[in-house]
Amino acid sequence: MTERVLLKEVRPYGEGEPVDVLVEDGMIARVGASIDVDADEIVHADGAIALPGFVDLHTHLREPGREDAETIESGSVAAALGGFTSVFAMANTDPVADNAVVVEHVWRRGREVGLVDVHPVGAVTVGLKGEKLAEMGTMAKSSAGVRVFSDDGLCVHDPLLMRRALEYTGALGGVLAQHAEDPRLTVDAQAHEGPNAARLGLTGWPAPAEESIVARDCLLAGHTGGSLHVCHVSTRGTADILRWWKSGEDRGGTVSAEVTPHHLLLTDELLETYDPVNKVNPPLRTDADAQALRQALADGTVDCVATDHAPHAAQDKCCEWSAARPGMLGLQTALGVVASTMVVPGLLDWRGVARVMSENPARIANLGDQGRPIAEGEPANLVLVDPEHRWTVRGEELASIAANTPFEGMELPGRVLTTMLRGRITAHEGKARQ
Ligand SMILES: [Zn+2]
Repeated sequence: MTERVLLKEVRPYGEGEPVDVLVEDGMIARVGASIDVDADEIVHADGAIALPGFVDLHTHLREPGREDAETIESGSVAAALGGFTSVFAMANTDPVADNAVVVEHVWRRGREVGLVDVHPVGAVTVGLKGEKLAEMGTMAKSSAGVRVFSDDGLCVHDPLLMRRALEYTGALGGVLAQHAEDPRLTVDAQAHEGPNAARLGLTGWPAPAEESIVARDCLLAGHTGGSLHVCHVSTRGTADILRWWKSGEDRGGTVSAEVTPHHLLLTDELLETYDPVNKVNPPLRTDADAQALRQALADGTVDCVATDHAPHAAQDKCCEWSAARPGMLGLQTALGVVASTMVVPGLLDWRGVARVMSENPARIANLGDQGRPIAEGEPANLVLVDPEHRWTVRGEELASIAANTPFEGMELPGRVLTTMLRGRITAHEGKARQ
């Protein structure tokens, strides 16, 4: 039977007069003024903005291994409520997703839950140890069809191993997502290296630890012709290196990059609070860095937003700073933070939000059915957003099992009204629909 959903009065990309969108069999069947047909469900959007469903290249779902912090199911609910239709689940689970068995488990469980496309990321090296390459080809050929590889949480530090990984990923038609951190420069690092960390006696994580790896990897991507994706860019210097790289001709290879919502909004001034909820890796940087990252996202130097959604159980977060694990929740607050840092100040319009939260990440990961235009004949992966609605973040009310959000109590603009995956409503008015 044909399932029909009629979206009344939506504004694609926030532009022009409201139109109706008819969704049939998972596809956008018609876009036009006043469509009047029988439908299984009618959503009265009252002028809400329609965007292609968001794609997150960087999500930690914690299953297998840390189901006390998040599961594929709870993370999928959070993703759908946040407007996402596709997420990439990082490989640093327990066991590590460095083989076909684990990636197929994650992929299958994501399909069973069915709220969002869960794409497992494959580890680059066995056990994330940085010593020898994982079974990348086997993971690529598995039913999970892995195309994004990353040792995230750790850096692929050995330059020869990184070179081989770029060559191998390229041969598989994939992309290598690097957590850029020279481990020799960040031994015992607890916070951004600067006056704030020094005053509190915390060992610093210096900006060049990220920048030196990004520069090296750009050169290796060019030399090998591989595809490098830089995870969670956090410094002005990294943005400068990316801008230099992208301005060149005939460099060979492809380089893309992501920034997290928290690096766009928060700074190391928060160290004052001594609250480990603000501990993240790479650490929160200075206001000058955050401003530079906003500019880099606006001008395309940084391609996309990725959440680095990192749930942690209370015992791993509610402890002294040095013992706390780095990471923050991100799926349900991403849109609000991007709206407040980029849309409200006029750095991006809503078409720009579609570009950085959906189209560009879909292109980087080579997803054919995500980040597509809102037009007849396209897959109905959509999110409806009320830009005026402001809401207050409450960690306990978020869908994740963990509640570690640095945005607790903050009022954010931009509320997700409805998320639709292949024509099926997965979230509506704050509730997921399984
Ligand atoms: Zn990372």
